[in-house]
Amino acid sequence: MSGPTGNLDVGVTAPAQPRAEVLRLVVVGHGMVGQRFLEQFVASRRGEAAEPAVDVTVFCDESRPAYDRVRLTSFFEKKSADELSVVPEGFLENHAMTLRLNDRVVAIDRKHKVLRSVRYREVPYDRLVLATGSTPFVPPITGRDRPDCYVYRTIEDLESIRLAARRARVGTVVGGGLLGLEAAKALKDLGLETHVVEFAPRLMAVQLDDAGGRLLRGKIEALGVRVHTAKNTRAIVAGTTSRHRMEFADGGSLETDIIVFSAGIRPQDELARRAGLEVGARGGIVVDNFCRTSDPDIYAIGECAVWNGSIFGLVGPGYQMAEVAARQLAGGESPGFAGADMSTKLKLLGVDVASIGDAHGAAPDSRNYVYTDEIAGTYKKLVVSPDGKKLLGAILVGDAADYGGLQQLALNALPLPSHPEDLILPARTGGGKGLGVDMLPASALICSCNNVSKGALCEAVAAGCSTLGALKKSTAAATTCGGCGPLVKQILDAEQKRRGILVNNWLCEHFEHSRQELFHLVRIGALKSFDEIIGRHGKGLGCDVCKPAVASILAACWNEMVLKPRHASLQDTNDHFLANMQKDGTYSVVPRIPGGEITPEKLIAIGRVAQRFGLYTKITGGQRIDLFGARVDQLPLIWKELVDAGLESGHAYGKAVRTVKSCVGSTWCRYGVQDSVSMAIRIEERYRGVRSPHKLKLAVSGCTRECAEAQSKDVGVIATEKGWNLYVCGNGGMKPRHADLLARDIDDATLIRTIDRFLMFYIRTADRLQRTSVWLENLEGGIDYVRNVVCEDSLGLSAELEADMERLVESYACEWKKAIEDPEILKRFRHFVNSKRPDDNVVFVTERGQIRPARPSERVRKAEEVAA
Ligand SMILES: Cc1cc2nc3c(=O)[nH]c(=O)nc-3n(C[C@H](O)[C@H](O)[C@H](O)COP(=O)(O)OP(=O)(O)OC[C@H]3O[C@@H](n4cnc5c(N)ncnc54)[C@H](O)[C@@H]3O)c2cc1C
Ligand code: SF4
Repeated sequence: MSGPTGNLDVGVTAPAQPRAEVLRLVVVGHGMVGQRFLEQFVASRRGEAAEPAVDVTVFCDESRPAYDRVRLTSFFEKKSADELSVVPEGFLENHAMTLRLNDRVVAIDRKHKVLRSVRYREVPYDRLVLATGSTPFVPPITGRDRPDCYVYRTIEDLESIRLAARRARVGTVVGGGLLGLEAAKALKDLGLETHVVEFAPRLMAVQLDDAGGRLLRGKIEALGVRVHTAKNTRAIVAGTTSRHRMEFADGGSLETDIIVFSAGIRPQDELARRAGLEVGARGGIVVDNFCRTSDPDIYAIGECAVWNGSIFGLVGPGYQMAEVAARQLAGGESPGFAGADMSTKLKLLGVDVASIGDAHGAAPDSRNYVYTDEIAGTYKKLVVSPDGKKLLGAILVGDAADYGGLQQLALNALPLPSHPEDLILPARTGGGKGLGVDMLPASALICSCNNVSKGALCEAVAAGCSTLGALKKSTAAATTCGGCGPLVKQILDAEQKRRGILVNNWLCEHFEHSRQELFHLVRIGALKSFDEIIGRHGKGLGCDVCKPAVASILAACWNEMVLKPRHASLQDTNDHFLANMQKDGTYSVVPRIPGGEITPEKLIAIGRVAQRFGLYTKITGGQRIDLFGARVDQLPLIWKELVDAGLESGHAYGKAVRTVKSCVGSTWCRYGVQDSVSMAIRIEERYRGVRSPHKLKLAVSGCTRECAEAQSKDVGVIATEKGWNLYVCGNGGMKPRHADLLARDIDDATLIRTIDRFLMFYIRTADRLQRTSVWLENLEGGIDYVRNVVCEDSLGLSAELEADMERLVESYACEWKKAIEDPEILKRFRHFVNSKRPDDNVVFVTERGQIRPARPSERVRKAEEVAA
């Protein structure tokens, strides 16, 4: 290989003169499909004698390794480019692959088996894989190259659009298909007056019929996006009120500042074309069932390939091609590529839309069932075979919950029930009878993005995957577009049941109820004690699992003092002493410091307490001060001093709301756009001590620089120019999880109301000891479902959730204060039940001017000193 080695190369640079026995494999294009090919290639060679050795070089003309283009729009939701990466950490390095970024391959010399790139004159190959994807089609309109005209394909495109939106008022998308509507959502979210201009007479002309398109249009217009159908843009010229004027063939015009073209894609086949490879009549590199081009040493996969006259503009078929080509090149067996299902399910501007199979009823004599509810805004259509026995296709607008089942009926040509209309009619009319997953054969393709069959899912369940999260992780099902998530969950449940695994989430042997059910029973029955609850709804005496769980439910419902006689015995060790037990049996004490803001007087009071009781002090990650080394008998004395100084319990011991971290925000910071400290204090004072299935951490950042790390919290708030963005279900700790955006640019009151609802919904429905992150990962519908319930009130629960939270807020009382005022409670704060003597086993040594627990050898030495 001759040419420079630039600093943009990732992985291990191949030797300049590869040995003769080394197979030189070159991949052109590092998009989602190129990366999947590399992974499948590595997997296919595993177990085979790794001969011949392979030298892999990948070229990509983008500036970063493969990223998730399907989730491109989430870049606007503050996902960083790194978070969108689909390359597992260390993958290229571990497999000695060289990735040449920012380098475009410009020619292939098939005769000499070398290719030329912008940076390299001659790159030899033995086998070549073209994964060059496609480019957005920009119609040949005069003026299309004016400034602020964009396409929507790469992270760089989105960066440019975001910058341009800052100085724009109106944005227009040319193209009312899937991607066009996604781009329109992005423009709307960027705060622009948004228009969609479509050439066809309806939106999503490929997937929807007239009625479906009409309903979708109505819904989208109701959200404030202006839709212009049957518009042929003739020219783009300078505008008078905005930067551009779009002139239409019918004489009309539209003024706009930004234009985003999203009028379809074209396969990137010019490299292949110039190399003399066969290309399709409408473009695309022609491949056979094994993804070989007309040159047997050259393969083409993904959006650049045309198979059987079809180009596949979805990632799932590309992944299947990647697998086929990888197996071929690794020398393994492959059944070959046999086409792919092009069904789609999406949420466009918040509207569920799905299209399955032959949605337009192109098959001769096909017949339809149609259900429309103009009030609820739903449209459902089934296309069935002439004898009414098989489902050929379907359209769903406004409610796509039936998607998974209908798609499987069509894909597997399963017999329809005697009344197919029941599949789309609402339950109250006798419908809502979805497909039972038991009917599906093992070969049924459940996740078409990642090519996961029902059989593969069942095998993973048999191998021990018992939660939706584990199943997704193990099989990759439902991890790309997510459309199959509900079906994957149904298969998990059905398979567990079939294997005799009791599919229940009962609390324990004493309660045949899930935590969620028990929560409702406690609330509705106004039950106030463990004895009442187990008497009515359980059996036996209870155990270490159900007692703290019931204690938590009682606290979340009625907020009574946890050490009240009827609750005290239910609490676990930390709650029992309102402090955290440490490894040497002493306790730590954490006063609440709302938002991390503290007066010098309170700081001095904490210091004084630490000095008086000889405690070790440490500043925590949650912006508080932890005092370690307190004996049980010292706890009430410490609390008294702290309470007298105006401090209160920080609930560091409880499964409860703990801290609300904040940055200094607009008060001091020159980047801040909102007062994050005031908001953090307001939030912490509102939710302090609220008991929940797991501990809860919150944070507020004053701008998108995110110094408070809000996106790693259960509830994270980030200031924007217009208000606050609310993120939920993030997690630090052992299994970090980036939080999901729940609501954008909301004002103070909406923010608090939304957090009220979110927290209460989680508290009501999570399992015991289930963190918000795990709860979300196991919820069918994920963040969209939470958004529907919390922001759009889809279950009609919002008023109740808010009222429940209000009750908790009003009934708050500091537990330390209550404890020191109650002589009965104080009795438990002794080391020995029948003596006031402190515990002699507690031994400290001094380090860096403070105490720490003695190590075993130090304890022995101390004991010997005392004995001597
Ligand atoms: C906004 C958006 C939303 C989408 N949503 C969905 C969805 O919901 N579901 C779905 O299934 N699909 C969706 N898609 C489509 C999906 O992203 C594509 O099908 C998939 O990314 C195609 O992958 P690919 O690797 O074939 O091509 P690409 O991702 O285009 O990758 C090809 C790479 O090769 C590089 N390249 C090209 N020519 C050369 C050359 N000569 N030398 C070096 N490098 C070269 C390109 O720059 C590019 O980086 C969406 C696409 C977009 C843009
Ligand atoms: S998040 Fe923004 S406002 Fe807060 S400290 Fe950092 S830069 Fe300043």
